[in-house]
Amino acid sequence: MAGTVYLVGAGPGTPDLLTLRAARLLKRADIVFYDALVHPDTLALADKSEKIAVGKRCGRHSTAQRFINKRLVDAAQKHELVVRLKGGDPLLFGRAQEEIDELTAAGIRFEIVPGITAALAASAAVGTSMTRRGLSRNVAFVTPRTGAGEEGHDWAQTVLAADTCAIYMGVGEAAAIAVMLLARGASSDLPVVIVENASLPGERCLRMRLADLGSAAASGITGPAIILIGEVYAQASPASTACKLAERARAA
Ligand code: SAH
Repeated sequence: MAGTVYLVGAGPGTPDLLTLRAARLLKRADIVFYDALVHPDTLALADKSEKIAVGKRCGRHSTAQRFINKRLVDAAQKHELVVRLKGGDPLLFGRAQEEIDELTAAGIRFEIVPGITAALAASAAVGTSMTRRGLSRNVAFVTPRTGAGEEGHDWAQTVLAADTCAIYMGVGEAAAIAVMLLARGASSDLPVVIVENASLPGERCLRMRLADLGSAAASGITGPAIILIGEVYAQASPASTACKLAERARAA
């Protein structure tokens, strides 16, 4: 008898942004395969399960995706309730489809439990709506990152076409992103916010214009960070308490 694999979103970081369904499944899980960005307190909810780290963080050593796919199938053949815990939402930039395809091919039952994606937690930190009447009617989730052996894609075109945009896995190449967008005709005045550690105690919101995005590398960003771009971020809307505190601390 094969068990069920749950692809579960762990949310952006802080454990209390986990869904109730995710918490219940963790509590009952026999085995949990988790990513690098999952908070230790979230993982601790799985108090009776075996826990296996398969995470990746910016090119550092990580378990090969094909091996993870296989381990999920193997685990489902031994256990009733298998959780594959991923940061944010499992269906955004989480390679979930490769796992879904493998489980489907092996005839293993699976379910997906959504989570709060980093872009939404980041915009919440900034205190700004990603859509706004008359100003922003669409939101793009984009990454400039391409996998090994993959063809490049025109991410800049997507950013330029979107009213509001969240760039995942882009802070490390912020300078190149800025150069590309400016070369393709984006305004140097376009409002940009980099949100680091959204929802976590070390949360920081760095507001700038596109022209200054290139110098972001100098801001000492070490945590997970996302780049928000769009006119909606122009107004100095009151940021959330966490960001305000962080900004005040930096100013002091
Ligand atoms: N599935 C995840 C995204 C995985 S890709 C989700 O839905 O959020 C990993 C990227 O997400 C990071 O490189 C970073 O750009 C972003 N990210 C994840 N957690 C974050 C956080 N707490 N604050 C800011 N960005 C974050």
